[in-house]
Amino acid sequence: MTTIDTEKTYAVHEDDLDILLKNMGILDDFEKGVYKCLICEKQITRYNLGGIHVKDDKIVFLCDSLSCVSEFGGLIRCKI
Ligand SMILES: [Zn+2]
Repeated sequence: MTTIDTEKTYAVHEDDLDILLKNMGILDDFEKGVYKCLICEKQITRYNLGGIHVKDDKIVFLCDSLSCVSEFGGLIRCKI
C-alpha cells in the first residue's frame, strides 16, 4: 500500500511507478511526457526517472542523472 505524504521523495521501481502515478492522479500526464527534470529540464520518461518529490501538492520529478540527484540534495531514498 502506497501512502502519499505532503512532503516526501520517492524512488520507485518500474513496477511500482504506474501505481504511484495513478494514486497521484498524474499517470495520464506522465505518459504524455509533460514532466521535466527539476534540475536539467530533460523530459522525464519511465526509463530515466530518478525520483519523485512531493511538496505541498506540487510534484517535482528528477531524472536519473547522478548530478541532478545530488544537486537536489541527495534526498532520493527508497520509500516503497
Ligand atoms: Zn536531470
